Amino acid sequence: MTQQVENDTNQFNKIMRMIFSAREGEEIGCDECYEHIDQYVDMIRAGQDPDMVLPQVKDHLSQCSCCELEFKALITILEAGASDDLDSLDRPDSSTSGDC
Ligand SMILES: [Zn+2]
Repeated sequence: MTQQVENDTNQFNKIMRMIFSAREGEEIGCDECYEHIDQYVDMIRAGQDPDMVLPQVKDHLSQCSCCELEFKALITILEAGASDDLDSLDRPDSSTSGDC
């Protein structure tokens, strides 16, 4: 009788576990960050909250200046909306540490 509810609960728990295990420690690397960053930016552009789905990306961005620069560049490019402006993009000081 409660089968359906249990299934839903299991599904929910599974998702929550995924989210929390990601939050709790497993840090992602730059490769993984790059894989998700398009989606992350898309969600921001769509007015959604990517931090609910991709908290690891946010964490990584806050720790990794390279990926943060990449992220800001993506936003800037998308907001410019046209590829014309790519050349005039403000390049951040080339103080990128090159650790990534
Ligand atoms: Zn990184």
